[in-house]
Order: sequence, then structure tokens, then C-alpha cells
Amino acid sequence: MRDFSLDIYKKLLLTLSEAGYEFKTFEQFVSENVNNKVVILRHDVDRAPKNAVKMAKIENELDIRASYYYRIVNESFNEKSINTIVKLGHELGYHYEDLALAKGKTENAIKEFEKNLNTFKKFYPVKTMCMHGSPMSKWDNRLIWQQFDYKDFGIIAEPYFDIDFNKLFYITDASRAWNNEEVTLRDKVDTNYNYQINSTLDIIKMLENGNFPNELMISTHPHNWADSYIEWIKIYIWQTIKNQVKKYLVKKS
Ligand SMILES: [Zn+2]
Repeated sequence: MRDFSLDIYKKLLLTLSEAGYEFKTFEQFVSENVNNKVVILRHDVDRAPKNAVKMAKIENELDIRASYYYRIVNESFNEKSINTIVKLGHELGYHYEDLALAKGKTENAIKEFEKNLNTFKKFYPVKTMCMHGSPMSKWDNRLIWQQFDYKDFGIIAEPYFDIDFNKLFYITDASRAWNNEEVTLRDKVDTNYNYQINSTLDIIKMLENGNFPNELMISTHPHNWADSYIEWIKIYIWQTIKNQVKKYLVKKS
């Protein structure tokens, strides 16, 4: 089975379920009492909104609700895609990058943030959000919250601020490799967990062996996942080039 294919994604979901994990949206996770094994499926839709729909359908077939974070820019924001994932019962949230888009001007950024959040609220009563890493920008989008409070905008949680990553284990496919810090500038968290994960199959095996913490957040970028071989190869080539650039940027920072 090819890694980062929709087949292996489905196998991952089935394994999580067999291992006794309950699927919660991020909104449910922060607003409900959670005692058992729980997993949050978080999707950052950086681009390729059609791929998000493919993942959303697979989850829906398995009666699973996930959390989808869309950006305001054209390569992500697509009404049809957003409407579909909401209709399939998933949570919609805002993948914000207003500070980078406003080139660091905080006053402009917060106005745009409110406007953009309201755009998303037309589709779903948005309660959570997460920052877009903007790897090519010098501005870290989270810094806007040094001056403002997102709770004033009806947002109850942002993973980077409201999660204890020493308790909840965070796994991300950023750069199409699991937890690859070498190519990740901002999409990483402070944690004491140290699992060596090289493939989705590694995660599946660890789950089967019962080796994982009780609370998980699996963050995926739908553009990394493909069901056809040709699309898979295209992503592979694109990602290889991009990772070289990112490695350089991470070293420089
Ligand atoms: Zn992103």
C-alpha cells in the first residue's frame, strides 16, 4: 500500500477505531469531558480543497467527524468544498494567516481577521481555529494574539495555545513526512513525547501494539494525500523540491 494514499488513510482510521479511540472534533474535545481514548482528526486545507472533500467523504462513511481548517486565500477557500464538508457533519474552522497577509501590520490584520472569520461563520458556527504556518513569510501568525484575545471573537480554542502537548500526542504530516522537524519551521509543538515515526504504517503498527498515548491529534494536509498514482507522483516531486527550500529556511532561522 502506497503511503499518503487514501487507502492507507482509511486503514489508519479503521485501526484507530479498533484500538478503542473515540473520534472527536477539536470543538468537542475542548467543550466536552473526555476520559477515554480520544483522537482529533485535524485537516489544514492549505490548498487542493477537492482533496479535503475526498477525505471528508471517507470519514463520513465511517461515521467519523473531523475538523477542517480552511484558509481565506483562493487556493484553499472554495465554497463548494466548504459546503460539502459541513454537510458531511464535520467541523469547520479558520486556518488564519492575517498577520502574514497584512505584512506584520497588526491593526490591519485584526480587522481582516474579524472579516474573514465572519465569512467562515456564514457556513458554520466557527468555534476553533489554528494558525497557518506561512513558511515563506517572516511573520509568525500567532503573534497577533500578543495584542488581542481571540476569545473576544467567539473562538474557544487554538491548538497552539490551548493544548497540553505533553498530554496530547501531536502527529503531523506537514511536508508529507510524519513529525519531520527538519523541514518544519512553525508547525511543531513543545512536547516530551518522542516516537520515531517514518510512515503511516508505523503509526498503524504502534496502534495495533497499544503503544500510543490516550489522547491524539493527527494533523493532515489533504494536498499531501492522493488516490491516483499520477497525482501521487506529482505531489512527490513537488514536495521534494519544496522540502529542500524549507530545510534551508529552517536552518537559516
Ligand atoms: Zn497551513
